[in-house]
Amino acid sequence: MNQHQPMISKFVIEASEAESMAQSLNLPSVLHLLPHLVRSAQSLARPPISNFHVAAVGLGSDGRVFIGVNLEFPGVPLHHSVHAEQFLLTNLALHRCPCLLALAVSAAPCAHCRQFFQELRHSSTLQILITDQVKTQNFETKPPNFNPLSKILPNPFGPYDLLDQETPLLLEQHNNRLDLVPQTDELINEISRNFCNGNDNFGKLSNGNCRNYEKNETLLREEALEAANNSHAPYSGCPSGVALMDCEGKVYGGSYVESAAYNPSLGPLQAALVAYVARGGGDYERIVSAVLVEKEVAKVKQEDTVRLLLKAVSPKCEFRVFHCQSPGLY
Ligand SMILES: [Zn+2]
Repeated sequence: MNQHQPMISKFVIEASEAESMAQSLNLPSVLHLLPHLVRSAQSLARPPISNFHVAAVGLGSDGRVFIGVNLEFPGVPLHHSVHAEQFLLTNLALHRCPCLLALAVSAAPCAHCRQFFQELRHSSTLQILITDQVKTQNFETKPPNFNPLSKILPNPFGPYDLLDQETPLLLEQHNNRLDLVPQTDELINEISRNFCNGNDNFGKLSNGNCRNYEKNETLLREEALEAANNSHAPYSGCPSGVALMDCEGKVYGGSYVESAAYNPSLGPLQAALVAYVARGGGDYERIVSAVLVEKEVAKVKQEDTVRLLLKAVSPKCEFRVFHCQSPGLY
């Protein structure tokens, strides 16, 4: 690591701090700073299968700099992996940044990620720099050579092939107007009993603090519902959200994101794991409880897949599903 590649240890850099970093490196703008952060950001990746560390460093329209890295999960098929570019977009959504202007990424984006970027309204003008294709890493001696996404994905298939122009796209405000299907008091009471009677792992992980647990259980349900309401699922009409709780009671929500091409869609648990990593979560086994909110009758359902991946990343984690519907439908 030389003096031109600052060390970073977090996933969001405030606009004022990014400006200061650029100035301290005598760079003309924060855009020029992005490639300088890539190598350091690669150390934040979690790729235990490939050991191939990828980082994507993006500039948001509000001046903040966002980091994305790849995540891999041993024990499940590779398609559960999160690519750095998907992490980056999820990170922007998590922090309510409405637009990604540019990114520097350590390796050429795969075809799935080029497709995933199509979910942005102005995707064709998104500026991309691939740092491992720059002959010299001395970015300050030569202006960084960003190119529009349209150069590496000509003739794209995208949202406008399936949706009208008014449908909100990724990073735009969503409100899926979902409410939880009312639960019976018996079910709620049974859940409380199950979690406090010491027969499960939570009793150990929470040190038997049931009062805190009940409070957090409500937080988890509300966070998962909010994530479902923010979910970008215009193609299937099946939004969903996951909320995770760690052993300290911190809650992390993630929204399901669909792609017009279907396959590069990002599951709600992956999105919640991005939130967990981006907000400083440690080992995945510190995740002790998870809630999924989705529709009970739906063409696209997440429950079985979430259960499978959750078992691989945090085997002792409790998992429950709550169903939602649009108001007036139950
Ligand atoms: Zn990719």
